[in-house]
Parts: sequence; structure tokens; C-alpha cells
Amino acid sequence: MVIKIPEKCVDVRAEADVLVVGGGPAGIGAAVAAARQGCRVMLLEKRGFLGGNITASYVETCNHFLYCTNFQTQGIYHEIEQKYRDSFGNSHDIRTYAPHRFSSEYLKVFLDDFLKHEQVAVKLHSFVNDVVIEDDRIQCVIIQSKQGPLAIKAGAVIDATGDGDVAFSAGIPFEQGRDKDGLCQPGTVNLRIAGVDVEKFSGEPDKLKLLWNKFLDDYRAGITGLSCKRQDLPAGRLTPAGIISYLNYSCAYGIDPTNPDDLTRGEMECRQYIMELYEYLKKNVDGMQNIEIASIAPEIGFRDSRRIKGLYRLTKDDIEANRKFDDVIAVYPRIYDMLAPDGNMEGDGGLEGGGYKGHIYVPIENSRTYQIPYRSLLPVKIDNLLVAGRCISADHIAESTIRAISACMLTGQAAGAGAALALKDGNAPKNVNIPKLQSILRDQGVDLP
Ligand SMILES: Cc1cc2nc3c(=O)[nH]c(=O)nc-3n(C[C@H](O)[C@H](O)[C@H](O)COP(=O)(O)OP(=O)(O)OC[C@H]3O[C@@H](n4cnc5c(N)ncnc54)[C@H](O)[C@@H]3O)c2cc1C
Repeated sequence: MVIKIPEKCVDVRAEADVLVVGGGPAGIGAAVAAARQGCRVMLLEKRGFLGGNITASYVETCNHFLYCTNFQTQGIYHEIEQKYRDSFGNSHDIRTYAPHRFSSEYLKVFLDDFLKHEQVAVKLHSFVNDVVIEDDRIQCVIIQSKQGPLAIKAGAVIDATGDGDVAFSAGIPFEQGRDKDGLCQPGTVNLRIAGVDVEKFSGEPDKLKLLWNKFLDDYRAGITGLSCKRQDLPAGRLTPAGIISYLNYSCAYGIDPTNPDDLTRGEMECRQYIMELYEYLKKNVDGMQNIEIASIAPEIGFRDSRRIKGLYRLTKDDIEANRKFDDVIAVYPRIYDMLAPDGNMEGDGGLEGGGYKGHIYVPIENSRTYQIPYRSLLPVKIDNLLVAGRCISADHIAESTIRAISACMLTGQAAGAGAALALKDGNAPKNVNIPKLQSILRDQGVDLP
């Protein structure tokens, strides 16, 4: 059965040159890059805070895979990390030897100030699920608010929703999950625990890493009593207050990140897994007898979702060949990380399985990199829309590397700079002068050939 929704007249509440939808890593990169080109920028975010998965899913150790490699962060991400460090140091982590970690709580506050300073107009509690299109251009996006639908008019729009919600509303084709069955990586709800005996977990080697090993042994010996299939246990900061700022464990499989019924199942299933993990830790881990659950992340987090069809689809083969693009906008270390979409834990983590034989984890190798072309940020059909972050045009395996938080901020930065340049020169984003765009990005701290 279908029902027809009556047409409505909607207030145009605001107008921006560049309108960014989604305040996660990609959206932040996009908004700041465009504002620095002198545009009036508005950033719409459905939640009450910025940061995307970093804050909403407690993904605080964004770049653990760069630790002890030849690579450093670049561009706006690098700046944010440095400025955050100036204010909040290493976020109370007692493990000074560990990679940098944000505190998701301090980062929320930091980002409020940072975006204000960059003159980005932020609108929180602004869920976008519709657009008004004329002549193949988005004229307005529609926010669903408690005051009913509201329109925001824009010169150019950047979809940084992670799920490609704006592009979907505009009717742009997309792919999702694995080719054969559409399965995405599992959804995860992280948790924070308090009451850890800090003494027992202090010092080197990293005791939380040893906990991961014990967990794996117990799991394989069948003594954890846990019903979730996941076998690893990445952990976040350990603070003098006896907090472990996150445990990244629960995995709900077979969830479509855009389907409310699946999301409901995923949230509830993950909370059950969290309670089971809590019981296991309390009973089996020395130094955790007195723990309590301090918080459960506000929302289930996803590593992949819709991938919007663009003028170029980045593939695993491009990455493996380090294919060079004239319109390169980011160079990123080659790393793949895909949790098994079907929960199959048998694989060895190699690329060969293609996401069908267990997980993929291919760490950074020496100086091996790959290029991301600007065209993978340009959706087909609509002239003034760009996408950034994990929903850009890519195959499923390529997505498992471009989804890295600092890579998402780089594609965001390129989308923001591209949109601003297009408006300045009176072009569509697909017709921008590429060497000029690359030069802007270099000036903003991005390493390009
Ligand atoms: C548990 C977990 C662990 C992970 N671990 C790592 C890791 O260690 N390192 C790493 O690099 N990556 C990791 N990732 C992946 C990484 O978090 C994501 O790929 C990355 O955050 C994607 O950035 P994004 O900006 O594209 O999307 P998101 O971070 O999802 O941000 C999208 C933003 O848009 C907002 N939004 C969504 N829809 C709308 C809408 N319709 N209207 C308005 N706003 C909207 C959201 O609220 C959110 O703020 C992990 C992910 C998860 C879930």
C-alpha cells in the first residue's frame, strides 16, 4: 500500500553559498575548507553535537593504523588534532606511548568553538531528508524539524551524511554493501566502563592489548559465554579516573543502515551483547571486578552504507595499482579494514577473500599509497551536489579504506574547496579548474603530487 503526501508550502529559513549536510569528519572538512575560500557556509547536523562517529560512536582513536608508520595526518584533520592537543593534551590517557586519542566529550566542545571560529553557521537538530530540484540543480534542502519542514536554499550542496541521504533524496543511483548480497559491515554500539583498577592496567606492554589477547583465547576456548560472533576487543583511553573510554565490541550483522526496523534490531541486539560483555569482564578479568557501565554510545555506528554513483567509481584495482589521476584530490596510505559482513570469522584478513571469506585487514605497508580522484565526489545527474566521506563513489572493498576518518576529512576538504571554487568561477563543480583546486588544497595542508 502507498499513501500520497500532500504538497506543502515551506518557509525558506536560511540561505548559504555552500550547504554541508552532516557534521562528521567529512562534513567538518567540507565546511571549513569552503569557509576558508570566503563562502557563506552552513552546516546541518541531525544530532545535538558535531563529530559524527568520533563523538556519537566513541571512535576516539581515529588513526591507530598510522601509528609507527611513515605516514602522518594532513590538512584540516592534522590541524584539528594539533589544536585539540593544545587544549586537551592526550585526553587523560595514562598510556603516553599510545596513539593520539580524542575524548569524544571534549571534542564536541572543541568542534563547537572551532567551527564558530571558522565562521561556519552550524544548525544542529536538523535532519535532512528531502530536496527541491530545478534544472538538475538542488535549489533547497528540506530539514524535518519540530516546527515542521523548513527549507534552506543553497548555491552548492555537499552530502556528508555518511549514508548519502541527500543524494538519495535527489534520486541518484547508489550501491550498498557487497555486490552479491548487499550486506554491509556490522553495526556497532560502543560502551564506556568505569571502576577499572588503574594500577593493574598501567605500564608497558599495553595491558589493554593483553586483555584483547586473553579475550580472544577465552572466546576460542568457548568460555566467554558471549553470543556475539566478534572475537576482538579494541579499547580506547585508560584514565586515572578508572575509565576505559570505549570498548569496541558489539556487532549486529545483516543490518541495512538506512532501514528503521533493522536499526531498531541493531541497537537492541548490541545492547544485549554489551551486557554479556560486561558480565564476562567483571567475572573473568583481574582489575575489573568493580566495573560499571558508565555509558553506552548514543547511537549504533556504521562503517559503510550507501555509496553514491559518481562520475568515477574508485575500485580496489585502482588502489592496488596506485592508479594516478589527473584530478587527484587526496593521497592516502593503503590500508583496508572490513569487518566480516556476514560474521564469518574464518578468514585470514587477506584481500583475496574480497569480503566473502571473513574480515579484511591489510595494514599499511612501507610507503604504499593510493590516489582518490575528484570525480568520485561528483554524483551523476545533479550539477551542484558533491558527496564526501564514506558514501563517495567506490566499490565495497575500496570503501573499506576511504572510510578511515582522516580520509573522510580529506574528501570533505576537497568537496568544500571544489564547491567554493565552482561558485567563485561561476562553474558547475564538475567543471572546476583542477590545477587551481589542487593548489587550494595544497595551501590548506594537503599533500598532493
Ligand atoms: C564502531 C566503529 C569503529 C570505527 N573505527 C574506526 C577507526 O578506528 N578508525 C577510522 O578511521 N574509522 C573508524 N570507523 C569508521 C569511521 O568512523 C567512519 O567511516 C567515518 O566516521 C565516516 O565519516 P563521515 O563523515 O563520512 O560519516 P559519519 O562519521 O557517519 O558522519 C555523518 C554525520 O552526518 C549526520 N547525518 C547523517 N544523516 C543525516 C541527515 N539526513 N541529515 C543531517 N545530518 C545527518 C550524522 O549525525 C553524522 O554526524 C569506525 C566506525 C565504527 C562504527
